[in-house]
Amino acid sequence: MTENKKQCSVRVHERGDWIGRGYPCPKPAKVERDGKWFCTIKDPEYIKAKRAKERAEADKEGAERHERDALAFAGRKAVRGLTLQELWRVTPELIRKALEEEGK
Ligand SMILES: [Zn+2]
Repeated sequence: MTENKKQCSVRVHERGDWIGRGYPCPKPAKVERDGKWFCTIKDPEYIKAKRAKERAEADKEGAERHERDALAFAGRKAVRGLTLQELWRVTPELIRKALEEEGK
């Protein structure tokens, strides 16, 4: 009988444990990558996909913030007369509306 119960090859380090050698991940391995076995959580491909997803979400957030800032800047003309405090509450939608109104 062959041993097919592989163990995850990743060593786990407790948060803040800088000097410890860590311990082998206790989870059973599910996937093989370049000859090494990994559980589903430590699977490099899974981590890569997770990071990519996180990055995409951060990019999206950044783009939205950028658009908001750009609109706030461009919209200053459209919302002139407002105080700085009022400007903080201005939404991109409000500025778009104001710009549309001015364009009429
Ligand atoms: Zn693992």
